[in-house]
Amino acid sequence: MQKKFFLIILLTVLFWVALKARAEPLEEKVIRYTLKNGMKFLLVKRSEAPVFAGYIRVKVGGADEKEGQSGIAHMLEHMAFKGTPRIGTKNFAQEKKILDQIETVGVRLAELTRQGLEKSEEATRLKAQLKQLQQLEDRYIVKEEFSRAFTKNGASEFNATTSKDLTSYFVELPSSKLELWAYLESERLKNSVFREFYQERDVVMEERRTRVDNSPFGKNYETLLAASFAASPYRTPTIGYEKEIATLTATELQKFYKKYYVPKNMLGAVVGDIDVDQTKKILEQYFGSIPSGPLPPAVEFHEPKQETLKQANVRFDARPQIMIGFHKPTLPQRDDFIFDLVDQILCEGRTSRLHENLIEKQKIAQTVDCDSGTPGSRFDNLFFIYASALGKHTPAELQRAIEGELEKMKSQPVGEDELKRARNQILADRFFRIDSNLGLAETLTYFEAIAGDWHYLLKHEEVIKTVTPKEIQAVAKKYFVNNNQTISILDASEK
Ligand SMILES: [Zn+2]
Repeated sequence: MQKKFFLIILLTVLFWVALKARAEPLEEKVIRYTLKNGMKFLLVKRSEAPVFAGYIRVKVGGADEKEGQSGIAHMLEHMAFKGTPRIGTKNFAQEKKILDQIETVGVRLAELTRQGLEKSEEATRLKAQLKQLQQLEDRYIVKEEFSRAFTKNGASEFNATTSKDLTSYFVELPSSKLELWAYLESERLKNSVFREFYQERDVVMEERRTRVDNSPFGKNYETLLAASFAASPYRTPTIGYEKEIATLTATELQKFYKKYYVPKNMLGAVVGDIDVDQTKKILEQYFGSIPSGPLPPAVEFHEPKQETLKQANVRFDARPQIMIGFHKPTLPQRDDFIFDLVDQILCEGRTSRLHENLIEKQKIAQTVDCDSGTPGSRFDNLFFIYASALGKHTPAELQRAIEGELEKMKSQPVGEDELKRARNQILADRFFRIDSNLGLAETLTYFEAIAGDWHYLLKHEEVIKTVTPKEIQAVAKKYFVNNNQTISILDASEK
């Protein structure tokens, strides 16, 4: 027993030593480099293995979309894998002629669809014509050539994501492939060709069906956000509404691309076994040739203060579940830091309060989850709580149990030990994430994009350490109230 105790102490000490060793030099290790066109890069040399992670963030997401164009940021992310005039085609000059004809048909079809005439004679004729043109274009397309250029050169974790806040492209490659990465990434940021647009639009429609319409979680989540926000762009789903995806055109996508994919609205990170001076030269050579453009317009809206409890119901033949959202401010407000600890104490890990109560003790929940920044962090957001019922238990039981825990947090300050554990867990999670090249690149670019400066990462650690039990109680009292709350319940019953 004593031996075990000693081992735990030793491991904790070693862990903190390791954490300090990694965390302290970040200040000196991260080099910020701005290209002449305004695109920023963060460079970190780490020579443990002959690999590097390349991470690109475009400061555009679902939150930037105009009404009627939901899903366009995500659609663009898909299209950024289709190649350029030089990659993905056998003869671009010939292909381009067909692409133009496809677009004429696509635009007219979108018009008809918007008018509810997608089944008209004209639309039927155009759809047949579109198919023929696509077959013609197919003769010129070299499928997946862009992605293959990465994978055959040893890429791992090669992927992209779109959120309400950001569009991200990332990959890990051998160090010797840095120039290749810079070439391919910069090409897709400035010269993407939207070939196979209308086929890809069908792929995205299918993705929506899988991730939202046929998913209890997805459906309930979309409902909660739409009910929670009145004006914030956070009320619409990143994937877009089916009707709006169905009328997107490559022409609109091109406009969106030129407006948002400008150097001042993008940034990147290169982390790993790199020569810093050489890397700067390569970045300037490839990304530096992206033509500069004006900063895209800021998103403007006024979200009115919620006055009463809002409730929504989703009918779905699936395991019943409840989602709760409480409005809260985003970073850099101090309350936002405090909510990270609230999240930890309530939901993260097996000893967290909701987990222990709903899953271990009462055995009424199968899953419990929270998030302190839903669905993004560029604007004021939600503290999100989710639970799914176990066996015959009901959302009402889950709701009561969750409310009980929230009341407890309001009426009693958390213990010092519990707070310390939560704080250490946040720091440990962060430590493990930034231990990998990709994780560090992801974290640095995230804070640089969202908070305006990657140093927020260090500030976050400092502030987290100063939060008191009293502050947690005060935040719970202030925000966990009915007129700040939206509840969405999913079950199979008629409402
Ligand atoms: Zn997708």
